Amino acid sequence: MGRIDGTAIAKEIRTQLAKAVDGLTGRKPGLAVLLVGEDAASETYVANKRRAAHNVGIRSTVIRRPVTIGEEELLQEIDRLNADHEIDGILVQLPLPPHISSSKVIKRIDPAKDVDGFHPINMGKLLIGEEDGFLPCTPYGIHEMLIRSHINPEGKHVVVLGRSNIVGKPLAALLMQKRPTCNATVTLVHSRTKDLKAICREADILVAAIGRPKFVTADMVKGGAVVIDVGINRVDAPQTSKGYKLVGDVDMAQVEEKASLISPVPGGVGPMTVAMLLQNTWTSYCRKEMA
Ligand code: NDP
Repeated sequence: MGRIDGTAIAKEIRTQLAKAVDGLTGRKPGLAVLLVGEDAASETYVANKRRAAHNVGIRSTVIRRPVTIGEEELLQEIDRLNADHEIDGILVQLPLPPHISSSKVIKRIDPAKDVDGFHPINMGKLLIGEEDGFLPCTPYGIHEMLIRSHINPEGKHVVVLGRSNIVGKPLAALLMQKRPTCNATVTLVHSRTKDLKAICREADILVAAIGRPKFVTADMVKGGAVVIDVGINRVDAPQTSKGYKLVGDVDMAQVEEKASLISPVPGGVGPMTVAMLLQNTWTSYCRKEMA
């Protein structure tokens, strides 16, 4: 019956970061974003990240390369950023063109600068519970959003819809950790799951990350559950200036009546993801400068 205001929580985090960065006397944290090609959605995401970094005092550089760039050339670009002492975080905006292996590119990033948290070393650390890696920004943002909304997953049954490497899997790994603010019982469901609706109805916390508009309906939600909507789906809206609008994976109108708390789209997980990217960049800076 209530909404989790991801925009406000993200702002709180950015304000704390801005204060910390403002207090620095020496060099400021630096974030490099590699953007290959001219995909419109990627351009928007990069512009948002850049603006957010600038507003907290993090220097950000966008390195644009044409869609025709060769894999080796891109890998060399990453080597250069790995060696650059002014750069604390490196982010490669995905998706990359099909002739470039994303996996190869991600593995080339120095794990100590992998602020997206996608490097296998950081994923491995997350899984085994070592806390000196980087958490992927969306799962990190979801966890932070829950905690700052006074929802401790400890002992709760969390059902995660979707098993991608950037959201579902790392979120499940994070929430199952033996740690006071995690300790959840996690079930991860996907397109081959039997009785998916019944499993979702068991959830104290239901997280939808599948990329299907209005997939989660009221009959999939237990009364009083917390529902986190990660989905960002473009649907036609001819009456709007852009001709489309963004909706989540949850049928908000139905589910809001049944859930105790729900994170909306837009204004939920999206801003949290960007805030956690800045948080990871700050963490990387602190590890280097204050070790
Ligand atoms: P992927 O497409 O990589 O993964 C989708 C997952 O959903 C897969 O595991 C897939 O199952 C599962 N799935 C798809 N259809 C169904 C179905 N009908 N029933 C059950 N499971 C299904 O997506 P991402 O994780 O990258 O993204 C998910 C959504 O979250 C997208 O809308 C994306 O835009 C959004 N997103 C939002 C972010 C934010 O900051 N708010 C950040 C990242 C993503 P299977 O593995 O079996 O194919």
